[in-house]
Amino acid sequence: MNFAAKVVAPVTAQPLVRARNVHKSFGDNEVLKGIDLDVMPGEVVVVLGPSGSGKSTFLRCINHLEAIDRGYIEVDNEQVGYQLRRGRLHKLSDRAIAVQRRKIGMVFQQFNLYPHMTALENIIEAPVGVHGQNRKQAVAYAMELLTRIGLADKANAYPRQLSGGQQQRVAIARALAIRPKLMLFDEPTSALDPELVGEVLATMRDLAQQGLTMIVVTHEIGFAREAADRVVFMDGGVVVEEGKPEAVLANPTHPRTRLFLSRFI
Ligand code: ADP
Ligand code: MG
Repeated sequence: MNFAAKVVAPVTAQPLVRARNVHKSFGDNEVLKGIDLDVMPGEVVVVLGPSGSGKSTFLRCINHLEAIDRGYIEVDNEQVGYQLRRGRLHKLSDRAIAVQRRKIGMVFQQFNLYPHMTALENIIEAPVGVHGQNRKQAVAYAMELLTRIGLADKANAYPRQLSGGQQQRVAIARALAIRPKLMLFDEPTSALDPELVGEVLATMRDLAQQGLTMIVVTHEIGFAREAADRVVFMDGGVVVEEGKPEAVLANPTHPRTRLFLSRFI
């Protein structure tokens, strides 16, 4: 008898984020002019670019905080804000959007912890208060996260009792509490005193090493060099250049990237 060898299809990973020709205007100010970007599972993408180039707007579009005008964004094979039914795209209800958004955690420049809640309460607020998770399990996971970021002993501290760096680390744990597949960071260290930046970047570096998929907007070139799998340079609402950090940071090919990076040398 002749058995043919079993043919195993190669596992080709699908991007977790797929953005195509994304356009977004505010009035007649076109801020995003056709962004294309794929992010693979486990990949850490650092987005660099001058102020006003549309970086925050792009992250906000991925996280349902702004609606795009043209193109599409998919996260985990679902189109952000839309659903395909009988071959047609339908806008999602608020409820369905809330379900999609559970896949995404976001950390902002201003950490905005609830001041009247302890670190622990801040972290379990979304899982318990919004998603109706079992409180005991949520607390256990929150403690695990606090331990991971080195703040287990601050579980019962209020934000005012924490340094800015500690508050931002708690904000990261809060975003992780919903077990997102994708984390978005929008200049997470820009509001911090310089001596507190390092501890937040260290926390982010740990997450990157643990295989979390991350898109990080930052001006911290050192973080980009060490933690990024890929660097994307945005300017004027488009991706001007992208590549491995060692290539883009050391040998930028586009004059805009060169000009931008020259400020950091
Ligand atoms: P970046 O994060 O790269 O600094 P932003 O995405 O914040 O850039 O902003 C890009 C442009 O979009 C800026 O000109 C800004 O004024 C404009 N913009 C951002 N958000 C809004 C908004 N909600 N309404 C009107 N204009 C906005
Ligand atoms: Mg911004």
